[in-house]
Amino acid sequence: MDIFIAPINFYNNLLLQNLVKELSKRLSSRIDVIDLKINLDDFYSIDRGQYFSTQIIAEAITLSDVFAGKVILLTDVDLFVPALTFIFGEAQLNGKHSILSVCRLHEEFYSGISNDNLLLERTIKEALHELGHCYGLRHCIDWGCVMHASHGIEEVDIKGNTFCRKCISKVEGYKGQF
Ligand SMILES: [Zn+2]
Ligand SMILES: [Zn+2]
Repeated sequence: MDIFIAPINFYNNLLLQNLVKELSKRLSSRIDVIDLKINLDDFYSIDRGQYFSTQIIAEAITLSDVFAGKVILLTDVDLFVPALTFIFGEAQLNGKHSILSVCRLHEEFYSGISNDNLLLERTIKEALHELGHCYGLRHCIDWGCVMHASHGIEEVDIKGNTFCRKCISKVEGYKGQF
């Protein structure tokens, strides 16, 4: 099953290329970069200074019928859902769409010092995590597993960068249905 990455307000091409390379290797799937015309201004909250991820996903659903596979929206803007101060990403459980923001994956967001390798590592983890939800996985209690929940950047860094045995077998089972 193919995976489609749709950059939206995202301009780090080197990170995008590296993400495509890593995801195709780790998931043995074909990864295509696609262009979805989404105007994020429509989903901006002036009160919060952030963008409402659930609404962005809803918009993407109306635009991506032609893509047979999982669609990850990749953005640099800061995302929220009403109950939380921010989110790294959101996914439809067992669905087609997810969204991932690298805004708070940048080390300079925390320490002021940029670190491209750390940014790539964090982005791979969170992309695998959101895809895992699309493949039907819920959060995993194993800290070695990329499906462990991350509420802050420390937790992104602590958790592993691969699926645990239990989770990968569900992903393989899911992909086997197609
Ligand atoms: Zn999650
Ligand atoms: Zn797991």
